[in-house]
Amino acid sequence: MARLFVFDLDLTLWHCGRRLWCDQLTPPLSRNSDGRVFAACRTEVHLYPEVPGILEDLHASGHRLALASRTDAPEIARELLRLFGIDGFFAHRQIYPGDKSSHFHALQEETGTPFGEMMFFDDEPRNIHSVARLGVAAHLVSGGLTREHLERALAGAGEA
Ligand SMILES: [Mg+2]
Repeated sequence: MARLFVFDLDLTLWHCGRRLWCDQLTPPLSRNSDGRVFAACRTEVHLYPEVPGILEDLHASGHRLALASRTDAPEIARELLRLFGIDGFFAHRQIYPGDKSSHFHALQEETGTPFGEMMFFDDEPRNIHSVARLGVAAHLVSGGLTREHLERALAGAGEA
């Protein structure tokens, strides 16, 4: 069954070194010749190592991917998606501050996908609780998204 896979950004897909969230970065951001991404404050932003492969595989399998981020800096988040070359994976994006249940109501409306057919990954318990209440399969990740997180979530849904 095709699902909508929804991801948080900060500390789920990427991390900003000693800064906690991307809204603490100083723009502009840039990508150097080695493909490394830096903010003007010299902070390097890293995708977690397994993230590009996970996104490619889900996308290649025909799954739809979406983002739900409550960052205070949506423009920085969008720029990071572009610099990392992963923006094309996400057909649906809800990126603005607020309780994540709002983001999911908007995703349901935009995609026509029932909450019960969505799967969500986020590093913050407050977001997991808020979204799980809607009936979304919401999974807490720590240390960045890995294939193990994904496989565990799919196994829990009886799909692996
Ligand atoms: Mg986060």
